Amino acid sequence: MAINEQDIQDIVRSVLKNMVTASDTSKPAGTDKKLLGVFDDIEDAIAAAKAAQKEIQPMPLEFREKIISNIRRKTLENAKLFAELGVEETGMGNVGHKILKHQLVAEKTPGTEDLSTIAWSGDRGLTLVEQGPWGVIGAVCPSTNPTETVICNSIGMIAAGNTVVFMPHPSAKNVSNLAIDMVNRASVESGGPENIAVAVKEPTMEVSNIVFKHKDVSLLVATGGPGVVTSVLSSGKRAMGAGAGNPPVLVDETANIPKAAEDIINGCTFDNNLPCIAEKEVVAVDMIADELIYHMEQVGCYHASEEEVQKLIQTVFIEKNGKRTLNRKCVGRSAKVLLEKIGVAVGDEIRCIIFEGEKTNPLIWEELMMPILGIVRVKNVDEGIAVAVELEHGNRHSAHMHSTNVNNLTKFGKAIDTAIFVKNAPSYAALGFGGEGYPTFTICSRTGEGLTSTKNFTKIRRCVMGDALCIR
Ligand code: NAD
Repeated sequence: MAINEQDIQDIVRSVLKNMVTASDTSKPAGTDKKLLGVFDDIEDAIAAAKAAQKEIQPMPLEFREKIISNIRRKTLENAKLFAELGVEETGMGNVGHKILKHQLVAEKTPGTEDLSTIAWSGDRGLTLVEQGPWGVIGAVCPSTNPTETVICNSIGMIAAGNTVVFMPHPSAKNVSNLAIDMVNRASVESGGPENIAVAVKEPTMEVSNIVFKHKDVSLLVATGGPGVVTSVLSSGKRAMGAGAGNPPVLVDETANIPKAAEDIINGCTFDNNLPCIAEKEVVAVDMIADELIYHMEQVGCYHASEEEVQKLIQTVFIEKNGKRTLNRKCVGRSAKVLLEKIGVAVGDEIRCIIFEGEKTNPLIWEELMMPILGIVRVKNVDEGIAVAVELEHGNRHSAHMHSTNVNNLTKFGKAIDTAIFVKNAPSYAALGFGGEGYPTFTICSRTGEGLTSTKNFTKIRRCVMGDALCIR
């Protein structure tokens, strides 16, 4: 199902209508309120998480579920607040879309039901394979989905019997710490312990390095760019890496072109292109490329000229230590704001900037996280597959395709080998938003877990009873 701007506005209105008054977490960070789980010193934070885990682990699953239900309820209550504070603090994203992301996390993130058991019974007794907690998990969070990641990770990690030391992005620390406070209040209100999720007031790389090496932290989960994923994978501990992507979307001549155009633009512009799974460039076969561009223009795209493309390159990148890096003041900004920066005034109906270019154009080659969508024209689907694989840079993260030819879809799926492959839908269908399945904002492409949930935050344990309990 394609979601257009009107659908999104209707859903946002219905969420807002059903929201009860924001709970006592509504006071923004930085005020006089003590935030539960937020410490001055990282050693104190880890010790508190360790103590809380000792209480969580022996609890009946039903009790963990009670805490999780309360986290879900409070997330819905505070979705608008987190969305507004997230946009305010980071300067990135779209409040309406962020409300939807929080609603999705609250309603569809798996809890304890995701845990499963394997059993073998026979003459020599009964053996169970169970999924048990690691203990204290260290979780690094990005600036792009800050509270969405804190809440989604909290639900899965706590459902598995762990507690979490969060390392929020410094540029999203206040809103992230407010979400941590909410998770703890949800626990305390349900009769559970405080400090099931913790962090420090001032997150820094030094603090993260202490967590990475700490003897009381058993598993590391990093959601962010390549630097932090490499750091956790070099820590010597078991680590899960949810790293960068640059998802291409391939369109062949058999696709429903008007629908493909609308789906691609809906996915690409969701939260101003911040989700790592969002369409970042298009590869279109020559036969339908003009028609695709025409239909994109009909659904709110601004077709940039060559001169405007050059100005965008000058604006969205900066040179740092002789290297081209993203200008953070452009990441997650709307198409209207990005066009203003190059002297082009457009109305609110413009939600994406499109242009045709070579695959080596930096706006196509690099992961931008902005509603700028370059289109690479190719002769046929085979050339398209080769170009799309190149543009994905071996991240094995996400790729998308619009086609009605199952052979083409299969060929691309095998060649691109990504954790996510969406066909004939916007990219966000992969997160269960207008698609089947559960959401997560931690997609472990680098380490292979894919879309993470409770089961991924567990250790496998074999539990054996000798010569008994087989009643066959
Ligand atoms: P970022 O890499 O700048 O920061 C992510 C986190 O890592 C932050 O908390 C930051 O403080 C920390 N960090 C960065 N480098 C570090 C290092 N060397 N050692 C320790 N900590 C370090 O990323 P961002 O801009 O906040 O997020 C965007 C990036 O994250 C994009 O590349 C996006 O694709 C990726 N991302 C991936 C997923 C996924 O599920 N795979 C989800 C969200 C974002």
